[in-house]
Amino acid sequence: MDLFQQGQGAFLRAYGRYDILLKRGQGVYLYDTNEKKYLDFYSGIGVNSFGHCYEPYINALQNQLHTLMHVSNYFYTPISIEAAQAVKDATQLDAVFFCNSGTEAIEGALKLARKYYFLKHHCADSEIISFHHSFHGRSTGAVKLTGNPHYQEAFGPLIEGVHYAKLNDIDSVKAYINERTAAIIVEPLQGEGGLHLCEKEFLKDLRNLCDEYDICLILDEVQCGMGRTGTMMTYQQFDILPDIVCLAKGIGAGVPVGAFVANKKYAKAMEPGDHGSTYGGNPFVCMAVKTVFDILNKENMLEHVQDVSQYLISQLDKVVEEFDIVDSRRGLGLMQGLVLKIPVKPVIQSLLDAGIIVVSAGENVIRMLPPFIIEKEHVDELISQLNKILKKYL
Ligand SMILES: *Cc1c(COP(=O)(O)O)cnc(C)c1O
Repeated sequence: MDLFQQGQGAFLRAYGRYDILLKRGQGVYLYDTNEKKYLDFYSGIGVNSFGHCYEPYINALQNQLHTLMHVSNYFYTPISIEAAQAVKDATQLDAVFFCNSGTEAIEGALKLARKYYFLKHHCADSEIISFHHSFHGRSTGAVKLTGNPHYQEAFGPLIEGVHYAKLNDIDSVKAYINERTAAIIVEPLQGEGGLHLCEKEFLKDLRNLCDEYDICLILDEVQCGMGRTGTMMTYQQFDILPDIVCLAKGIGAGVPVGAFVANKKYAKAMEPGDHGSTYGGNPFVCMAVKTVFDILNKENMLEHVQDVSQYLISQLDKVVEEFDIVDSRRGLGLMQGLVLKIPVKPVIQSLLDAGIIVVSAGENVIRMLPPFIIEKEHVDELISQLNKILKKYL
């Protein structure tokens, strides 16, 4: 039995995996066990912001392993305080809770919004407004917030009191607001759901609605935050601040860590004993978080994301013009979607065969989440293969 067959028998079949064994990575390239080279245009679903084996990052992690790895949250550590400060600076918010994934960040944010509501109403009967095509994770709370019945169907009963409004339709949100509404949760740029971007006016209207009715605005920047769209947080391009922001994926750049971050108003609702996580924010992952923000802050990384994404956008727009089967391009920065009029699966497979890794977002969107360190030549590599493959559909 070869290793691939062994793998097929070893895991719960929760994923449809490709039949490739990835062995190592360097920079923007991955290599399989046959040393076939792949251009990484998905960064492990928006995680590996600096590609593979990025020296400043792995050096910092190695040093931390030789210093301190885990102590639990009964104690402060210098590195966890530094990481929390970096997150506060990056988000312009006030208090951080470190957890281990995006799903947990969502769960924590939900609990905090509910706690605030409970202190105000002395009753645990709050409601949440989420959006169609959203994605917030896989736990029975986060999957309920995910506005896609496909993910929920088999796993009920889920949490109660969730309504789904239409993105960029403020009236559809208003229709669900009542005195029990505790929170509105939205991705400024939807990832899994197909790269739908919030309009600036819409996010501002949401902010105003939340202020008017004392509702918690939770932004899910698990995928679109930490520099991916060209600013530290995507909401910084919308001139608003959330009450709580949820982070994961790129915040650890490969180490499993998430966070939810609250402003003072909501932070006050949390008391010792309300929430916890054994691993959450241990010294090792906090070194990853601190180093991620150091790199984003110091090495002109965000300027590079802005520049190279402009080039990617211009090249993708040419593809849209050239091919009838390509409907449009959507996205921001290095989080881009190419919307096809045909199912994307065979196109993604052809790209893979040609040595380029992208992912889908739904049935008909090719999603591109390249590492921030890509250069124009890598964009050209993608576009030239994409052109070749799409020509077959002419
Ligand atoms: C990936 C993702 C999540 C869930 O994160 P996990 O780390 O997989 O639990 C939540 N929200 C958004 C927007 C995501 O992209």
